[in-house]
Amino acid sequence: MSDPRDLTTHLLHHPYQPPDSWGAVPPGVFKASTVIFPDVAALRGRTYTAKTGYTYGLRGTPTTYLLEERLATLEGGRFCILSPSGLAAIMNVDLALLNQGDELLLPDNVYGPSADLAASVLSRWGITHQRYDPMNPADLAARISERTKLVWIEAPGSVTMEFPDLPALVAAAKARGVLTALDNTWGAGLAFRPFDLDVDIVMHALTKYPSGGADVLMGSVVSRDEALHLKILKVHGQLGLGVAANDAEFILRGLNTMALRYHAHDAAARELAAFLGRQPQVTRVLHPALPGSPGHDHWAANCSAAAGLFSVLFDPALRQQQVDAFVDALQLFRIGYSWGGPVSLVVPYDLGAMRADRSVLPGHLVRFSIGLEAVADLQADLAQALRVMG
Ligand SMILES: *Cc1c(COP(=O)(O)O)cnc(C)c1O
Repeated sequence: MSDPRDLTTHLLHHPYQPPDSWGAVPPGVFKASTVIFPDVAALRGRTYTAKTGYTYGLRGTPTTYLLEERLATLEGGRFCILSPSGLAAIMNVDLALLNQGDELLLPDNVYGPSADLAASVLSRWGITHQRYDPMNPADLAARISERTKLVWIEAPGSVTMEFPDLPALVAAAKARGVLTALDNTWGAGLAFRPFDLDVDIVMHALTKYPSGGADVLMGSVVSRDEALHLKILKVHGQLGLGVAANDAEFILRGLNTMALRYHAHDAAARELAAFLGRQPQVTRVLHPALPGSPGHDHWAANCSAAAGLFSVLFDPALRQQQVDAFVDALQLFRIGYSWGGPVSLVVPYDLGAMRADRSVLPGHLVRFSIGLEAVADLQADLAQALRVMG
């Protein structure tokens, strides 16, 4: 953490000792279920929680330990736990920290499947949840009770892209001694330093920018407090969560180019969001780095970069079929979920199904994930699809 080098450099140069006389830059990929112990004393002496030695493939390999170190560095934390998806990482945090009778607070614009987990599995187990207004820290403060044990924070919100006042949300939870977990998938460790804001836990869907290839699913949970880390790690082990070395290898490789890719996605997305904002059919652009977008001032106060993700609201006077025709007419933008990959993606969302009060953002919402294609080609694609829409 005190290393003065830029993260771009740090992601490439991290302590790794290759075997003697083997001098390649890429780290080795170690695969095993069984780990061989030299003797019974070693078998009895090792625990996976202390990371003093290897015990079993599910509990970690040299490849996954290396990835954990690099991700802890990236996020500015001390400990890292890998799960088979971002959603599994969220589940790991929830199940480790919540007991029957506890309450969980989620932002109203939370990543959808996280809310679904709370409404289904957690609720069946007697854990309640409430949604708070992420743009109103006083609303969060008012919802905290003795039963509140965890607050999830997202910056910006999934799909609707509001950027909250992060320090104020964290302060509201801290004032009542409630743990905070930040979903940092959008920031990716590059847009802002999450632990500088004093959050307790940073979750990251590595599926997005760290992978960069749209070919691996993985999630991480990074923390600084050892007792908290061990609490999450224990449940991680009890649930049998773990990741394959080949998948870890892809993420390790992706980290080498992540900063370059992130900033390229960022620059292209700002240009294309501004382009769409100038079109008569578009009533609002939701991109935290653009003035006029919800929470832009909070983004400006806390961030030095943005991801390649934004949404636009099409004029409510347009029919949904026209908006669907626009999406269908796109050639380079492919229709599909997720983001952070090389190919640009587009999804029309039904805000009514996602929010209690959809009048806040009237119109037809379409989300774009900007890939690594030439910006001029993407802009031409948007322009021709807008013409189809009429
Ligand atoms: C994609 C995503 C997740 C979940 O990641 P998966 O690996 O797809 O399970 C969680 N949070 C956010 C903000 C995401 O975009």
